[in-house]
Amino acid sequence: MEYFDVVIIGSGPGGYMSAKLLLEKGKRVALIERSVFGGVCLNAGCIPKEGLYELAIRESKPRWRVAVQRIQGKVAEIRNMALKSLLSKGLTYIEGDAELIDEKVVKVGNRRLTAQYVILACGSRPREVGISPEDLLRGWVIPKHSVCVVGGGATGCELAFILRSFGFKVFLVRKDTVLKGYENIPEEFAQKLEDELERCGVKLVEEMEDTNADLTIRATGRIPNFCQERFPFIAVNECGYVRVDEFLETSLEGVFAAGDIVPPMGAGYAFEKARVVVHNILYGKEKVFDPKRVPVIFSSAHQIGFVGSIRDAKVFATKPLSINPKAYVTEKNGVIRLGFDDGGRLVYCCVIGKDVSEILNLCATFLGKELEEQPFAHPSYGEIMNEILSIKQEVCK
Ligand SMILES: Cc1cc2nc3c(=O)[nH]c(=O)nc-3n(C[C@H](O)[C@H](O)[C@H](O)COP(=O)(O)OP(=O)(O)OC[C@H]3O[C@@H](n4cnc5c(N)ncnc54)[C@H](O)[C@@H]3O)c2cc1C
Repeated sequence: MEYFDVVIIGSGPGGYMSAKLLLEKGKRVALIERSVFGGVCLNAGCIPKEGLYELAIRESKPRWRVAVQRIQGKVAEIRNMALKSLLSKGLTYIEGDAELIDEKVVKVGNRRLTAQYVILACGSRPREVGISPEDLLRGWVIPKHSVCVVGGGATGCELAFILRSFGFKVFLVRKDTVLKGYENIPEEFAQKLEDELERCGVKLVEEMEDTNADLTIRATGRIPNFCQERFPFIAVNECGYVRVDEFLETSLEGVFAAGDIVPPMGAGYAFEKARVVVHNILYGKEKVFDPKRVPVIFSSAHQIGFVGSIRDAKVFATKPLSINPKAYVTEKNGVIRLGFDDGGRLVYCCVIGKDVSEILNLCATFLGKELEEQPFAHPSYGEIMNEILSIKQEVCK
């Protein structure tokens, strides 16, 4: 039996962020991964997608095969650097498929590991069989002329735009308006994105039969990657997510869960869950996971992002981004909506436009606070917060 302070299963954002933070505090950590280090986000999700998005909007005639190879080369570099950095801090990295054979005993191959704490970060997988967005981003499938992307969620909208920008004929199959599942995205923002996708040449259809594409990508959602037979002591809910308390501890004391096996899914949430889990392991159960504090962003024909919760807002201020001089000369189409509670505190922000992360990150720091008159760098999108101050005074009267 090998002894550790913490054993972590899965090396995606939930797992590797937990490992990094624990190693920095001098803990003995084992990290187990059955596939490649870095999980979906680094190898086949956020990072390659962002790389292709940047090429799509910057280069005049980008070539798909070359671009995917280039980005995957960079992904391999990041993977090596990140793993090397953790190993240099003392990580024990084990390749293999892990299972929990006793309450705190993890089996991987012939090895048996035990620890005071276990972190489960097994991630998620595509809901449906078929060619997935991950297959596309890893370069396992190469589109020829036309692509049918099934699913009007975030990934569907992002891939449809990227593929179109690379010159493919693209169909996007969606049943209703895109981004329907996101209550924090107002319908008119989603409609604005649909209009822009169409303007860029993406053909929006309701049924797959309406297309004659030579490649179909299924972006129809993801499910938790959690096989209960391998983790028999851990309770799951009816959707297959691991049951946790507000501190992200599972039904088994000392076993925590981070990443996509706990809702909501997304790498931004996975990093925050890791921070919460590590805090609670180090200092006792005192830090609560609050998804509202995590900014979420999608990069499609427009960028859309939100932070906070629309449900907490009593009054709203909505303005075109073009009231901001930088936005006026770069991206006139954007819109910002802020929501305030009864006390005039900022509780929600949704932005559509360009480089929206600047505003979102800013709003994330202001959440739960009254907006102060704060100077911002000029020219920057953040300056719009000063403009919103005057609107806020009107709407909160
Ligand atoms: C196309 C695409 C684009 C995306 N873009 C974004 C984005 O822009 N922004 C964003 O926030 N999110 C994005 N996501 C979501 C993001 O990738 C996931 O939310 C994130 O990767 C989840 O992290 P995780 O740590 O839960 O698990 P994962 O990244 O899924 O990693 C889990 C790891 O655990 C390993 N594992 C599982 N079970 C075992 C076991 N029993 N033993 C050993 N190893 C095991 C797996 O092999 C895997 O490597 C995107 C996803 C996709 C598919």
